Amino acid sequence: MAELYVDQSRCQGHARCYMLAPETFMIDDEGYGFVREGREGSYDEENVRKAIRNCPERAIKIRGEEEAK
Ligand code: SF4
Repeated sequence: MAELYVDQSRCQGHARCYMLAPETFMIDDEGYGFVREGREGSYDEENVRKAIRNCPERAIKIRGEEEAK
């Protein structure tokens, strides 16, 4: 099953994901984004798609699907 995740090797901590889709993304103390527990299946929601498109590092990906555009 497809699963939303943040590639920590690419994330630079801009926190745009959190600003665009706070119900799905969280940021740690240093501003790096991660997917909230239980929200791994939310990749098809409009806010989440917007966050994927707006991540400057293209760090938000969907495992088990083509790489997020
Ligand atoms: S927008 Fe991208 S680079 Fe910024 S915190 Fe979120 S995942 Fe990381």
